[in-house]
Amino acid sequence: MHVAVFSAKPYDRRFLDAANATSGHKLSYFDVRLSRETSRFAAGAEAVCVFVNDEVNADVLASLGSKGIRLVALRASGFNNVDLEAAQREGVTVARVPAYSPHAVAEHTIALILTLNRKTHRAYNRVREGNFALEGLLGFDLNGKTVGIVGTGRIGEIVAKILTGFGCTVLGHDLGPRPACEAIGVRYVSMEELLSSCDIITLHCPLTPATHHLINAESLKRMKRGMMLINTSRGGVVDTQTVIEGLKDGTIGNLGLDVYEEEADLFFEDLSNRFIGDDVFARLLTFPNVLITGHQAFFTKEALTSIAETTIANITAFETSGRAVHEISVERISRERR
Ligand code: NAD
Repeated sequence: MHVAVFSAKPYDRRFLDAANATSGHKLSYFDVRLSRETSRFAAGAEAVCVFVNDEVNADVLASLGSKGIRLVALRASGFNNVDLEAAQREGVTVARVPAYSPHAVAEHTIALILTLNRKTHRAYNRVREGNFALEGLLGFDLNGKTVGIVGTGRIGEIVAKILTGFGCTVLGHDLGPRPACEAIGVRYVSMEELLSSCDIITLHCPLTPATHHLINAESLKRMKRGMMLINTSRGGVVDTQTVIEGLKDGTIGNLGLDVYEEEADLFFEDLSNRFIGDDVFARLLTFPNVLITGHQAFFTKEALTSIAETTIANITAFETSGRAVHEISVERISRERR
């Protein structure tokens, strides 16, 4: 099958080429993000392969449909950037990689917590400059702290397991309890109780209309003063402007982000020779207690191998049977969320 691969970085090419070695699909790589404008690169292909910040809205899908594209293969689990209803209207099948390495994201979440707490990123720079003073590097024991996990799915469950090993009390909030989490002692509570009880809150739910700005001005009023907030899910789950107010008034003592509401114009590119035009993002960078990574939680060898293999399997299955292995549709999602 001829596939136009958008947002293709050198590492995407390496892993997709390896996974495609025995399948023989024709993969045409484009560094640019998919948008209305760049959808012209899909001409001649039968499928497009996209990542988290590609635009797969109604406009783009209409353009893809008119070019004969029949499959959108996401190299991601989250699909908040895809208009599923428009895809259905255009007769375009959408497939994703539902689970690749939940360990990759869970472990990165722990890296953010540990780095923010023990300030190893600041210590690294100090020591290299011959500054061995400890003032400003004071952390706290994770042991005995209460951590709240919002969204106890595949990733949330692993985060819960790791934190239990640290001796934390783990509270969960989800649409329903996950037996594997309950089995290790996760106690399910309301969002209100989670906000008011936790020293650390980490977000692992998908971005949906219900979770958009889940962390907002009302949440801030309930939080423990000086708490740590971690978001490795999707930027839109957090109202960034409100979080900045929380950092300024001390409600939020530490903030770790791997995702950002407006990341599409920033992340995955080297902008080091330009200025950052996003004033909200630039403000975040001024806080010493904010740690941001550029959507790299998924970025391990194991995850990239699995993403590439599942993506190729989706494409092959669609080519041979007309059905991808991991299709998503409006009906399927509403069934799963009931
Ligand atoms: P999952 O589907 O296994 O788990 C998501 C959980 O969130 C489910 O248990 C679901 O019931 C729960 N949920 C849904 N709506 C909720 C709500 N309104 N309130 C509370 N909980 C709710 O997904 P996963 O594999 O664990 O991934 C979670 C999210 O992590 C993805 O949706 C994606 O956005 C994000 N992610 C980020 C990266 C990264 O590199 N930063 C990589 C992969 C996934």
